[in-house]
Amino acid sequence: MHLSDRVNALAESETIAMAKKARELTAQGHNIIKLNFGEPDFPTPQHIKDGAKKAIDDNFSFYTPVAGIPELRKAIAEKLNKENGLNWKAENIVVSTGAKQSIANALMCLLNKGDEVIVFSPYWVSYSEIIKLSEGTTVLIHGTLENGFKVTASQLKDAITPRTKAVLYSSPANPTGAVFSKTELESFAEVLKDYPNIYVIADEIYEYINFTGEHFSIGSIPYIHDRTITINGFSKGYAMTGWRIGYMAGATWFANACDKLQGQITSATCSITQKAALTAITTSNEPSLEMARQYQRRRDMVLELLKEITGLKLYVPDGAFYVFPDVSNYFGKSYKDYHIKNSDDLAMYLLNEAHIALVQGSAFGADNCVRISYAASDEDLKEAIRRLKTGLEKLQ
Ligand code: PMP
Ligand code: GLU
Repeated sequence: MHLSDRVNALAESETIAMAKKARELTAQGHNIIKLNFGEPDFPTPQHIKDGAKKAIDDNFSFYTPVAGIPELRKAIAEKLNKENGLNWKAENIVVSTGAKQSIANALMCLLNKGDEVIVFSPYWVSYSEIIKLSEGTTVLIHGTLENGFKVTASQLKDAITPRTKAVLYSSPANPTGAVFSKTELESFAEVLKDYPNIYVIADEIYEYINFTGEHFSIGSIPYIHDRTITINGFSKGYAMTGWRIGYMAGATWFANACDKLQGQITSATCSITQKAALTAITTSNEPSLEMARQYQRRRDMVLELLKEITGLKLYVPDGAFYVFPDVSNYFGKSYKDYHIKNSDDLAMYLLNEAHIALVQGSAFGADNCVRISYAASDEDLKEAIRRLKTGLEKLQ
């Protein structure tokens, strides 16, 4: 084994690891209900698929420019101007093989060894590992369940050091579903006003799954606009996870750097996918809104059912499709050979004994919690929560 220190230091994505375990148990014949993976259960809307089919028939099968086809970059820029108050043009957009790649592009283009990135925790599992790959250092600030898992401006201020290079968060957030309001984001921007060398990476991949009725982009605040890198994509809002397409929007010099980096690693994403995304972004948003209404209805149903499990501590998530209850009441309890010390033990116990796949909170910087994705059918959700209740009640 002659692996690099870089890859040896890298942890496996725990969301993906849990998906693997759940698939293995399913293959062995177990009936596992999977509420672990963060992806829409809806198929991609028909008109988007038709856009892709047409691209295939038109032989749109060649390499495209690395940063994406001009008409897609232009359509994304128009969307960002219209919906998000971001004053970007096509040249400011770099299309990639997913928001994950755009985050990696951004961090690799931004960080030097030892640069600090302030990450709002609980945080999406890949942030800290991509920061590590980019030789940066993650500085976590923690939101509490009582505050809907949202950090405050004073926490942000206290975390800033001379090495701080960037602030990274998602809103709506994975794994908590927390949504920062305009006022909250303005308070962060107010703090950053005094630090012109700190960049903001705003991951807005769950933009269309927001139950508050208001999505605010921090980059629309004029004095922070040029140093905000906005990340978004099509995976969640348009149910296009497998198509692999996302994008970043930022200052021209920064977009050019991402274009250069991507040009040496993956080049452009799939040409057919880009045409599908162009169809998605230039047609009615109604299918996305309808999916969001379904998620909201399921959130309400799931919360009602979870309330019956008295050991859980709950809050109301405002977006995405996750709920992240505190399960620490079950720590120190046992069933047969299972001794639950932390969220990893609990997730493994629930997988093996109750046959439900969730993700341990430790993957997201919050070991007291587990993440439940409610991007699943009503039937599966009801049965999974019944199993969860029975499984938790067995722990003594
Ligand atoms: N950011 C967050 C917060 C996510 O949950 C995900 C999940 N996939 C991504 C980025 C990556 O999305 P994509 O499928 O576009 O790479
Ligand atoms: N983002 C999703 C999740 O959090 C998909 C898996 C991944 O890309 O990590 O589960």
